[in-house]
Amino acid sequence: MPLLARTVLAPLAVDVSAGALARLPELLVDTRISSGGKVAVALGPGIGAEIAEKLDLPDAIIHTIQPGTLDSAHHLAALLRDDRVDALVGIGGGRLIDTAKYTATQLGLPMVSVATSLAHDGIASPTASLTREGVSISYGVHTPLAVLADLDYIRRAPASQLQSGVGDALTNLSAVADWELSHQVNGESVDGLAAAVARSGAEAVLRHPGTIADDAFLTTLANALVQGGLAMGMAGSSRPCSGGCHEISHALDVLHPGLAQHGQQGALGALFCTWVRGDKVLFAELAAAMKRHGLPRTASELGLSTDELSIAIEYAPRTRPGRYTILEHRELDSVAISRHLAEMMHELD
Ligand SMILES: [Zn+2]
Repeated sequence: MPLLARTVLAPLAVDVSAGALARLPELLVDTRISSGGKVAVALGPGIGAEIAEKLDLPDAIIHTIQPGTLDSAHHLAALLRDDRVDALVGIGGGRLIDTAKYTATQLGLPMVSVATSLAHDGIASPTASLTREGVSISYGVHTPLAVLADLDYIRRAPASQLQSGVGDALTNLSAVADWELSHQVNGESVDGLAAAVARSGAEAVLRHPGTIADDAFLTTLANALVQGGLAMGMAGSSRPCSGGCHEISHALDVLHPGLAQHGQQGALGALFCTWVRGDKVLFAELAAAMKRHGLPRTASELGLSTDELSIAIEYAPRTRPGRYTILEHRELDSVAISRHLAEMMHELD
């Protein structure tokens, strides 16, 4: 019997739990990533000192960096060049992990991702967002070999970061709908398994009654973000997790830098795209979940006027040329967008 299947690049180990960080030394041995614990550890400036103290890896070489920029990734690479280590462990929030993923890829080192916050789906994804001269650019990188998410730290993360993670997970629902639209209109092939994985994680977050104050919800959220990363790895692109929703977030980054976090902006983008798509059922569910988690659902909640948000949405398709979404499909001008935003607001409770 022929055995036809695909190989999926995925982390060797995933551990989402309280105290996950304390199990890091054991995990390095078990996965054979590092038998002697001779690893480099990259930490951010915030929680870094506390983690460095608790880390039970006497042979680790610790580097504290200011993460998030391409320069910081090159700086880390320069620091690591003389370290003879088995792997790079990035411990921190989304920006730290993205920086460590990029550096590890550059140096050909295995990378272990330890999340102390859940701001976006980068904890297990083969992409890294880094700013270069103030502009955020997404780079393709290797998937982390192991992913840990420590709830003891995550539950202490700023609420806005966790809300961003919730928003980023929810955007998968709109991103997959955009992917299917492009399949119907342009014949773009859809990877059904990647779409299913991305969507099921997002649906679990969508329907979970808990909040970011509950460990049970945070576990579901961490799992959804890991699934998003896995889906991107399967698809070989960010397609299952990034559609018109992300184009709107990128447009807000360009026109109103520093306005809100990635997933907060993306979720509002997903809500708008879902409205324009005419999916009333998903719109109501999305609106309810966003309200439950305190995510902005209107221009004013985001800190903009309706006109400013309309202009950003009109600009959005320019941020990602070649990606076909509901925004490219409908080609709305800012007047039509303002009308949709007004109608959409009417439907919100
Ligand atoms: Zn995202």
